[in-house]
Amino acid sequence: MAKQKKRKGSKWLDPNKEGQGHGRRSNRYCKRCGQTVQEVRILKHENICEDCVEELREKQGGEYACKGCGKVAPKQVQENDGYCKECCCRACGKPDPEFVQKHGFCETCFELIGTNCRKCGKEAQAQVQRNDGYCDDCAE
Ligand SMILES: [Zn+2]
Ligand SMILES: [Zn+2]
Ligand SMILES: [Zn+2]
Ligand SMILES: [Zn+2]
Repeated sequence: MAKQKKRKGSKWLDPNKEGQGHGRRSNRYCKRCGQTVQEVRILKHENICEDCVEELREKQGGEYACKGCGKVAPKQVQENDGYCKECCCRACGKPDPEFVQKHGFCETCFELIGTNCRKCGKEAQAQVQRNDGYCDDCAE
């Protein structure tokens, strides 16, 4: 029979696959509080447990969780000065959570980019926003 398909999109470690071996290394645990995958769900890529994710999300500390939306994404947050990718302008990288989540750009860039292609000047709002300021032709 065909192998069972991986559960799609699960960002949690599977306790049935983890911690079965012996020794410390075989046991995945939360890097903050030390709970193991057998006790609580743990985020695959971050090694942070569900309880800590909850706590961090509430704190929005900017170390593990985004200061803007609370998303727990340590790598993004460290790269973007305390904010996750979704809260940073796609063009200049400046964090502007509320505006960026709505428009994909910070307010400055949004006005700058507006609705016209930065290269050829063609008005094509949807294309321009999709291609970070360029129309489909110029984005290629
Ligand atoms: Zn934890
Ligand atoms: Zn965010
Ligand atoms: Zn910007
Ligand atoms: Zn163009």
